[in-house]
Amino acid sequence: MGSPETIATENRHMPPFFTKIPVSIDRGEGVYVWDEEGNRYLDLTSGWGVTCIGHAHPVIQAALAEQAARILQNPNSGLTYSPARARLLSLLADVLPPNLTRVFFTNSGAEANDAAIKLARKATGRRKVVATEGSFHGRTISTASATGQAKHREKYSPLMPGYLFVPYNDLEAIRSALDGDVAALIVEPVQGEGGVRIPSETYLENVSRLCMTNGTLLIVDEVQTGFCRTGPMFAVDETKVRADFLTMAKGIAGGFPLGAFALSEEVSDRLELGDHGGTYCGNPLACAVAHAVIRYLLDKSIGAHVAELGRFALDEMAQWKKAYPDLVTEVRGKGLLLLVEFHDEETAAKVTDECLSQRVFVRQTQGNGIRVFPALNIEREQLMDGLGTLRKAIALTAGERR
Ligand code: PMP
Repeated sequence: MGSPETIATENRHMPPFFTKIPVSIDRGEGVYVWDEEGNRYLDLTSGWGVTCIGHAHPVIQAALAEQAARILQNPNSGLTYSPARARLLSLLADVLPPNLTRVFFTNSGAEANDAAIKLARKATGRRKVVATEGSFHGRTISTASATGQAKHREKYSPLMPGYLFVPYNDLEAIRSALDGDVAALIVEPVQGEGGVRIPSETYLENVSRLCMTNGTLLIVDEVQTGFCRTGPMFAVDETKVRADFLTMAKGIAGGFPLGAFALSEEVSDRLELGDHGGTYCGNPLACAVAHAVIRYLLDKSIGAHVAELGRFALDEMAQWKKAYPDLVTEVRGKGLLLLVEFHDEETAAKVTDECLSQRVFVRQTQGNGIRVFPALNIEREQLMDGLGTLRKAIALTAGERR
């Protein structure tokens, strides 16, 4: 599965943060990857929702090669102008909600959220931040402080002061939490790491209204849901939400590390020279790749494809709950952000391992779930194939013979 040398070297030289999977990936193409020994696997994780148009896509290769031959990083970084950055900004202006007219770039989702929180404090002169239980917003100290999962918080005290949590999908709790000192409320349209939790249809709109009434800035974290993951370009596109900040990463550049936050003109007006910055902040190489990826999503109508395949996948998965009620408790999802939930963690682990032995990567999530979030341009047959393997893995775990 993996070259012993690669595995030994990583194990020797990296800190013990990950439960590693003993597979060493050499290359990828589309929804498939190959290990160092030449075995092919189906990737139903898209590198955790990142490689949204598949591995080694020709449009990404072309954008990388073309921009790499021009310039990677500007003299004086963001102080000078870049046509690659300007092209991406114009395209983002076309696809973002219309009130979000300004964009600044980061290198990751955590950095985008971190900056949005920091700038919300600056813009409002308030201190407190409201986040939701079960959320995930990143691993920097301020985004860990905004993450509503004990395992990401409890060992790093002291966390940032002034963060409080409300249950997800609970408007009354937000109503009680908002006061004159709440600078920002940060929320995911669907909690991805939290186990693909989908709120009621009107939740986000009501959150938006409550924030507006209270003068609290709404940060919508679209790091996982953005760029057609749930169907529309952004999950909020189907709602009447008025975000003050919208944060992005993962799919934005299809695998090249890039993040961004968009903000409204009103909030931008309250910010000043020197309030934020960074060494990369829209590096031309990252911008060129992001432009190519977003163009592809638009030109190929990937959003419609995702919505259709998502419905098909959920229908298929709903049958598993009927067929294996002793194992499967629920299936849920939106677009190509899907989850099968099992009675217990051990079952989810067994099914995940069985998928791997059939050379399919899925992602065990929140212990008892398995998340399926493949490249968005996956073909129907490829998805059927992957779901077929997952179903077989569940059947085997349930004790059915092969
Ligand atoms: N927000 C959400 C909703 C996420 O799912 C993630 C990553 N899983 C992050 C923020 C953090 O992004 P990154 O890992 O790029 O810092």
